[in-house]
Amino acid sequence: CGVFGIYAPEEDVAKLTYFGLYALQHRGQESAGIATFDGKQVHLHKEMGLVSQVFNESILQHLVGQLAVGHTRYSTTGSSRVVNAQPAVVATRLGSLALAHNGNLVNTEELRSELLRRDCNLITTTDSEMIAHAIALEINEGQDWLEGSIRAFHKCLGAFSLTIATPEGIMGVRDPNGIRPLVIGTFGSNPVRYVLASETCGLDIIGAEYLRDVEPGELVWITEEGLASFHWTQKPQRKLCIFEMIYFARPDSIMEGESLYTYRLRLGRRLAEEAPVEADIVIGVPDSGIPAAIGFSQESGIPYAEGLIKNRYVGRTFIQPTQKMREAGIRMKLNPLKDVLAGKRIVIVDDSIVRGTTSRKLVKALRDAGATEVHMRISSPPVTHPCFYGIDTDSQDQLIAATKSVEEIAKQIDVDSLAYLSWEGMLKATGEDPNSFCSACFTGDYPIPVPEMVKRSKLM
Ligand code: 5GP
Ligand code: SF4
Ligand code: MG
Repeated sequence: CGVFGIYAPEEDVAKLTYFGLYALQHRGQESAGIATFDGKQVHLHKEMGLVSQVFNESILQHLVGQLAVGHTRYSTTGSSRVVNAQPAVVATRLGSLALAHNGNLVNTEELRSELLRRDCNLITTTDSEMIAHAIALEINEGQDWLEGSIRAFHKCLGAFSLTIATPEGIMGVRDPNGIRPLVIGTFGSNPVRYVLASETCGLDIIGAEYLRDVEPGELVWITEEGLASFHWTQKPQRKLCIFEMIYFARPDSIMEGESLYTYRLRLGRRLAEEAPVEADIVIGVPDSGIPAAIGFSQESGIPYAEGLIKNRYVGRTFIQPTQKMREAGIRMKLNPLKDVLAGKRIVIVDDSIVRGTTSRKLVKALRDAGATEVHMRISSPPVTHPCFYGIDTDSQDQLIAATKSVEEIAKQIDVDSLAYLSWEGMLKATGEDPNSFCSACFTGDYPIPVPEMVKRSKLM
């Protein structure tokens, strides 16, 4: 999911949030929502669909106020329905709160029982709504916004990057491991105003300057007085999701002090060092495989070419294609360039293989287009384990590398050769302390303990 927040009484906060969400659309295409506060009054609009489908000028005009939060959703818990769209709005003794969540809690069963025991009325099925209710319960028992929220966060286990709007200000929060990203931006002067976004591309679009990340285990409270920081947990230890860097976040977002484009180029260069191959051209799988493909080309000296053209307008639509179209498969999204590919030995680079279904269809399309050899190179290690922290990499039985060796996968997707970047190589290219990243989907080494019952739902 994508989250956004802004405090700026002199601006059209709904419109700025709309643009912020537009830049964060890649983080979730199922539903979108914005909540604004004007004094104590909350204004909310959320619907299924893309940001551009959910909002128009007249809807935005009704979302008045001095502060706002917004959300783009893709579901990891709870079904894909409008009741599960965010922000989640809950009434409290001090007025409403509106919460936008990116991540996934692993102790929802425990949390749900506690909330029900304390007479809380849960309407939807998401972990995100539970966080909002947990805060409201504390507030209603006499706590203030900050103390109440912090008490609630202590009851949450898992990944949560949050933006929360209240009548008084907005909060930006990260779990003690900072699994999902969240950044702070500033704009204007006298007074300086603050913005929160999942990624820096959400700041760029509204002309805000990147200030810094919200730290793991930090809460920032942004009000008329400016920004105040609270370290709400004793033992923060950063475990940033490495899959954000490899695949999920936009290439123009800055993480670890550089664009993810530059980072992904380096993954591709290292891949070329680790797994060289003789070929005529290197192509990437649009969009996420392109930077690594360019890096592979730079390191290997094999020319880079565009071999697949992506239809930019294929999102998740509500009109399902016919069965016949589905069989035509990926052509709806990616179309091969026959005159580039015919008669060539091809290296095709992608960022990851999850189920292997896309890869198999792609390879077939390349062969149909006349490629004489197809060598696949993947700029991350085999995905062998499911994610419990908010990336939808499926249950373990769906992951092709969970049960098959690299040779077996090569056979199944019908390539002449297949190689993945090594785990060590990936971390070396990442250049930081390997302990500061989660890479559990490649290793099974989960940094936040996952309860047995939850594990059983996704592990073989
Ligand atoms: P596959 O060959 O596994 O069917 O598809 C691999 C492609 O899916 C890659 O291009 C990769 O960018 C993309 N991908 C990687 N992780 C995820 C994920 O968690 N969800 C979805 N929907 N796609 C993913
Ligand atoms: Fe990211 Fe994988 Fe860890 Fe999930 S398991 S948080 S996708 S690195
Ligand atoms: Mg991709």
